[in-house]
Amino acid sequence: MAFTVAIVGRPNVGKSTIFNRLLEQRKAIVEDIPGVTRDRQYGIADWNGKNFYVIDTGGFVPDTEDVFEREIRKQVRIAMDEASVILFVVDAASGMTDLDDSMADILRRSTKPVFLVVNKVDNNERLLEASEFYSLGFDKVFFISAMSGSGTGDLLDDVTELMKEEKDAEEDTDLPKFAIIGQPNVGKSSLLNALIGEERTIVSDVAGTTRDTIHTRYQLFQKDFILIDTAGIRRKAKVHEDLEFYSVIRAIKALDEADVCLLLLDAEKGITAQDLTIYSLAAKKGKGLVVLVNKWDLVAKETNTARDYEKTLKQRLAPFNNVPILFVSVKEKTRIFKAIEAALEVYENRKRKIPTSELNDKLLKAIEAYHPPVVRGHPIKIKYVTQLPTAVPSFAFFTNFPDDVKTPYRNYLENKVRENFAFTGVPVRIFFRKK
Ligand code: GDP
Ligand code: GDP
Repeated sequence: MAFTVAIVGRPNVGKSTIFNRLLEQRKAIVEDIPGVTRDRQYGIADWNGKNFYVIDTGGFVPDTEDVFEREIRKQVRIAMDEASVILFVVDAASGMTDLDDSMADILRRSTKPVFLVVNKVDNNERLLEASEFYSLGFDKVFFISAMSGSGTGDLLDDVTELMKEEKDAEEDTDLPKFAIIGQPNVGKSSLLNALIGEERTIVSDVAGTTRDTIHTRYQLFQKDFILIDTAGIRRKAKVHEDLEFYSVIRAIKALDEADVCLLLLDAEKGITAQDLTIYSLAAKKGKGLVVLVNKWDLVAKETNTARDYEKTLKQRLAPFNNVPILFVSVKEKTRIFKAIEAALEVYENRKRKIPTSELNDKLLKAIEAYHPPVVRGHPIKIKYVTQLPTAVPSFAFFTNFPDDVKTPYRNYLENKVRENFAFTGVPVRIFFRKK
């Protein structure tokens, strides 16, 4: 689900009103991600069960003339780089302005589809006046009122129609997909180069113009998988906040497309708040995880350095911390192939299907040894467990009172699943169902 809709337009045309309307059924908004500032919004929209990202590139636009133009250009550039489709919003109430004209000039050169959205068409009279915007020269024109919602359904239909086309164009492969994610400068490009070679960077510059993530097939030493990266298409962002914003958006896109995420950390800096957010987002989305503590060559080591480091890191990663943690140095090429081995193992773990008989054999014993606590005088009985046919390992426990099994017991069962079967690096889901 990396499909992204960017909203651009001069101030006050109604961008944030449209943004809020698209996100009406606000689901899993990533607002707590540092770098996604209050003036540049990012969220997930849902239209008839189809999910896509929406960016409001609005931003803070200062009103001195030259800065203003520059900010608008920057906004449009972000949209052209990050989006799958651009909604160029203009305002029927105020009519066309010079700024609309100059934004249109830039957008006409976009390789991404641009929908012209004429907003504030609140009544029929406005609709007549709004036809002046056809002169901007865009094929797709929508007349909407973000305030009342009229016209937004057609717009969303056409947006989701594009999603279908993009999906058809994507190569479908059953190969494991690994995403390399992490903060700027942790060593993502270096790791890619170490694995695939320097020519990579050249390839990525070309690929970066058409998509936000780059898929490279790795085929060496009997290993065959797809590496998804965003490192190579990094741009020279001037402002630190921009760089962070891009890196967050790209990390989310990359992890969406991946089966397993390799989260790179800088050994000297440790894990940051943003790393933790990305980590728990990956876990929430059921992705496999491997943590690589890079630049280990820079750390002064004593007897238990790695062990202590791992212990502290696991505390930060809790509750889901049953993941491989490897101490690597991309620079000295230590343990980088081990890291790939770990990712392949996690990939296998994520696909693992446990036969029902084996599952019941092991887990009913564990339940027998420690029963769920009695609730309101009812003994809770769990009679049977089965693995569901889902991509993320999920287990259904059949019980007489599914709603009365509490979190501590759920955790107990998850631990027993992990003790008995190999699910390292993989989020495991536990459900209770009525018998
Ligand atoms: P932004 O600066 O482009 O994000 O614009 P806002 O979303 O903040 O909207 C600017 C103003 O236009 C606000 O006062 C909105 O209430 C108003 N507005 C937005 N959409 C509509 C609409 O469809 N009709 C009318 N009449 N006003 C609207
Ligand atoms: P990216 O922004 O995550 O792609 O990071 P880069 O791959 O561009 O690396 C950032 C800097 O860290 C570069 O100067 C690398 O040479 C350096 N670097 C990467 N890996 C290591 C490592 O294992 N040890 C040391 N000492 N430096 C490293």
